[in-house]
Amino acid sequence: MGARSKQLFEDARRYFPGGVNSPVRAYRAVGGEPFFVARAAGSHLIDADGKSYIDYVGSWGPMILGHAHPRVVAAIQKAAEAGTSYGAPTEAETRLAQLIQHAFPDLERMRFVSSGTEACMSALRVARGFTGRDAILKFEGCYHGHADSLLVKAGSGALTFGVPDSLGVPADLARHTVTVPFNDLEAVRDVLAARGREFAAIVVEPVAGNMGVIPPRPGFLEGLREITARAGALLIFDEVITGFRVALGGAQQLYGIRPDLTCLGKIVGGGLPVGVYGGRADIMGKVAPLGGVYQAGTLSGNPLAMAAGIETLTLLQAAGFYADLEAKSAGLAGALGAAAASARVPIQVNRVGSMLTGFFTSTPVTDYATAKTCDTRRYGEFFRGMLERGVSLAPSQFEAAFVSAAHSASDLDATAAAASEALAMLSRA
Ligand SMILES: *Cc1c(COP(=O)(O)O)cnc(C)c1O
Repeated sequence: MGARSKQLFEDARRYFPGGVNSPVRAYRAVGGEPFFVARAAGSHLIDADGKSYIDYVGSWGPMILGHAHPRVVAAIQKAAEAGTSYGAPTEAETRLAQLIQHAFPDLERMRFVSSGTEACMSALRVARGFTGRDAILKFEGCYHGHADSLLVKAGSGALTFGVPDSLGVPADLARHTVTVPFNDLEAVRDVLAARGREFAAIVVEPVAGNMGVIPPRPGFLEGLREITARAGALLIFDEVITGFRVALGGAQQLYGIRPDLTCLGKIVGGGLPVGVYGGRADIMGKVAPLGGVYQAGTLSGNPLAMAAGIETLTLLQAAGFYADLEAKSAGLAGALGAAAASARVPIQVNRVGSMLTGFFTSTPVTDYATAKTCDTRRYGEFFRGMLERGVSLAPSQFEAAFVSAAHSASDLDATAAAASEALAMLSRA
């Protein structure tokens, strides 16, 4: 790590727990200390010491166009000149909603909030308010933000740092959250056969991204749709990562499933804080001021964030955008698999569109238990090897790498070359 980053991290530790404002930014799972970012452009981050990295973290998902896209930056600048927050409605909110609904036609009504956490927390409250039921079912290793009810067997940093069940969540609340393995339809059926009428909702990442990337088995999402409909429970798709990522219309478009409620975040704000929850008009009609489910936000629909979202979603509609991203991502996944094979390092590369994870295990990864078979020490070594070679991956085995439109053919070649070297070093170790 460069001297300047080292100093900045030391300073930051005097103010923030672990020196960071989100635990996933710490390097505890991979060893070493994080570099501090000075700026970013396109596919690259530049750290405080002037070192440049090809970035596959992409702010943990939002930066599908790459960093500091000139048109997004210009839109934010223009919006800022007209005022940064009003606490009153603007046309920009409706324009972004139109773009969202064009991609997600089942969001008949929606509400803007400021984060994915807020979107999931609010969707859950609406589901409970609408059904008059308390129980929810979620999947081990899926992450839906840090609301109390959802921090049970959670993924992302909660999984990385070994606290899937957070302290501070009242047991009385956690008992309403039932968890079963991802991709296990039989387990879902068993739970709902016994207690179906208690469940307000099943919430799922339709492609799991927070225990590393795990695609749904054929029939899994269809099964959830059928089981919830039969039990009178709502199906909530948490598409905070997958929305505008695996297709313009997210996983619900890719797999042709119609959830009752959808949560969006990350890409929808173009790198500014935006979350969205929405779905069936009759359900969303329960939200204040129309109905009795209360949810509000001082900065909701913030004009800068709306401007960034509008510009981003407009650019995503370009012809061939997702086909190009698919081709690049398939190339990268193939190169990683080939490099691992020639270094004789067992890796499972899981990929859906431009989100992918190379799991350091010889077991196919289909759920939390199989994800946990990974050699995380080896991943840490690989991570550090890549960082030395100027490639920034997530500092955890249990996260996705994100390919953006800004990654060039030479970026991808350089990444493949770095991976070959880093993996070859491992196999000799
Ligand atoms: C990131 C994420 C969230 C939480 O979003 P924040 O903006 O970090 O609060 C929720 N669900 C999923 C699937 C996510 O990946």
